Amino acid sequence: MKNIIFIAPPAAGKGTASELLVERFGYEHISTGDMLREAIASGSELGNEVKSIMEQGQLVSDEIVIALLKEKIEEIKGKSFILDGFPRTLPQAEELNTIFQEEGIDNYVAIFLDVSEELAMQRSLGRITCSKCGTIFHRYFESKKPKVEGVCDNCGAELISRSDDNEESFKKRFETYISNSKAILDYYKDKNRLEIINANREAQESIVDIEKVIND
Ligand code: ADP
Repeated sequence: MKNIIFIAPPAAGKGTASELLVERFGYEHISTGDMLREAIASGSELGNEVKSIMEQGQLVSDEIVIALLKEKIEEIKGKSFILDGFPRTLPQAEELNTIFQEEGIDNYVAIFLDVSEELAMQRSLGRITCSKCGTIFHRYFESKKPKVEGVCDNCGAELISRSDDNEESFKKRFETYISNSKAILDYYKDKNRLEIINANREAQESIVDIEKVIND
């Protein structure tokens, strides 16, 4: 089973696909966005530093994100992982390559989830997440609505919207993504590691193609 680097615009379905892969194959899910949100929730100095940057939909500095990532990769050493939200810039991709060399990690694929801006925006604006267990639901998509409004099907805790899931922040994040992603895609294409998956579908459908790629 290959390690996965997910490259995708905001709300392309990375989170949902990751959840499915963790359940089915036991991957470790490394999400830099989640790690940063945890730092904010814990009220740490680092959390306070990144809070307003994230709320505006801007990128946190490479230095901060790389330090968090290195710590995490050390922690899960030897296990297969999904990288979600990293790399987001070319320097981050280059740094990741160095980390992989240092750790002897060569079994990986970069998966690009290709989604239209319109669909990604609908997903983003309706997304609701469990405040306790992190399960993702959706306000408008029938197949992903919680059974009881505002309540998690799994654990009964409250469902909340992310503070950056608003139209203005979404557009900014999408724009930032477009301007940074081309270089990253080219980087993995040149290394012959890039796979493109159509993500304008239900996650259950995209996952079938993803499974082929990781078991290849
Ligand atoms: P989304 O996929 O919806 O953009 P993420 O959870 O991946 O959500 O990221 C949320 C925010 O966290 C980003 O808008 C950015 O501010 C910050 N962030 C996450 N990963 C990185 C990264 N690799 N580099 C810089 N900032 C990051």
